Amino acid sequence: MIKTSLKNISKITNGLFVHKICTTIEKIEIDSRKITSKCLFVAIIGKKLNGHNFFQEAINKGCVALLVQYKLPIIFPQIIVKNTTTALGQIAHWNRIQTNPLVIAITGSLGKTSVKEMTASIFSQYNKTLYTKHNFNNFIGVPLTLLRLKKSHRFAIIEIGGNSPGEISYLSKIVQPYIVLINNIYPVHLEGFHSLLGIAKAKQEIFSGLSQKGIVIINADSNNLKLWKKSIRNIKCYFFSIKKNNIFATHIKIYPNHSSFIAHTPFFKKILINLPIPGYHNVYNALASIAIATAAHVPVNKIIKGLSIINTPSKRLEFIQLNKYITIIDDSYNSSNNSILSAIQVLERMDGYKILILGDIKELGRNTISYHLNVRNMICHAKINKIYSVGYYSKLITDNLIQGKHFNHPFIMLPYLQKKIHHIKKNTFILFKSSRNHQLDTVINLLLKR
Ligand code: ATP
Ligand code: MG
Repeated sequence: MIKTSLKNISKITNGLFVHKICTTIEKIEIDSRKITSKCLFVAIIGKKLNGHNFFQEAINKGCVALLVQYKLPIIFPQIIVKNTTTALGQIAHWNRIQTNPLVIAITGSLGKTSVKEMTASIFSQYNKTLYTKHNFNNFIGVPLTLLRLKKSHRFAIIEIGGNSPGEISYLSKIVQPYIVLINNIYPVHLEGFHSLLGIAKAKQEIFSGLSQKGIVIINADSNNLKLWKKSIRNIKCYFFSIKKNNIFATHIKIYPNHSSFIAHTPFFKKILINLPIPGYHNVYNALASIAIATAAHVPVNKIIKGLSIINTPSKRLEFIQLNKYITIIDDSYNSSNNSILSAIQVLERMDGYKILILGDIKELGRNTISYHLNVRNMICHAKINKIYSVGYYSKLITDNLIQGKHFNHPFIMLPYLQKKIHHIKKNTFILFKSSRNHQLDTVINLLLKR
């Protein structure tokens, strides 16, 4: 972040500065273990931990001041604010304005991290680019990302997520993007949004922080385009699609673990794109990143190069060789009906024996049963040899299915898999798909003995 005085921080956050000292800070930390000198420690009150309980460690490690929600009984510089999470956002916004890069915000139901990685790979070929680490896309992660911005950054690529109404709007105003992407709208996080329309409305909140003369990028093949069309009437838009549109793809070729297509945009002639990762859905993700790069006038050779060297983000259809015969496809990061469909399409293309392992899909609220039954319909006709379901609701997926088998818990499945794997002597692909924290990732680690 940009070096600034504590006095300025208290002004930005509208805080009360007690035990004042006249000094500057160069970094903000919310984790007391990571404090270094010239740091301001921000005490966040989270679901599990209260940062205020760690002030002593922060002081011992050399922080210059504390930003707190209530005054701590110590003689040490403190800025007291109404809400430390809000204050974190205010300082992050200030840093974003001071550093002034071209900011891109990425939202949508699925593929935010995938598109962010693709876009970052393209822009990093071109100029100094800061981008969201891992999946830091919420009201803590987004400010922390903006706080890493320096004057030398030309571009910032920020992933924005949200589980309930209002979150994306809040974050968009902090980020103040010049280009925004709505990658798609799918039934994900239904617990917080209730319906597909609720999700579409929430994603549209991304427009609330858009800079004047900003640009909007939208998947023309996704749902609720009509709803967005109204709210973007006076904004410059690019639509991407696999049919003719502003940015579109032709000659799409999908291979087991890579793909290629010809991209068309308004600014350059056709370009051949090679993606070293599998999946039809990644053609869409790549089109989104091409649309963003096109809007920012990134040279075409940087787009081609950037996309040719991308990696699959960890646990999103990540290929791992278990032994001579078996490949594990780790998709244990997240699960939803649409991403299960993407996973099935990838697995079906593999040349060998195919096993699909499905855990429960979370955050579906009152739609939980119907969406699990919908998965059952999807897999009934899939060209997959065996389907194992693990968990509670996923039992509905394999019930009475000849090729199916159910396990109540991942650790009940584990010994069964270990035994089976021991006997496999032919080319085999095992795809693990589940929502986070379902322990399928632990099963994978135990199989890989890592
Ligand atoms: P989160 O909301 O958890 O941050 P995300 O939007 O960042 O998710 P990714 O992490 O990129 O999405 O991908 C999540 C899952 O969705 C993975 O299983 C991935 O294979 C699948 N996926 C990625 N892009 C798409 C897409 N465009 N269409 C359908 N499925 C996709
Ligand atoms: Mg993500």
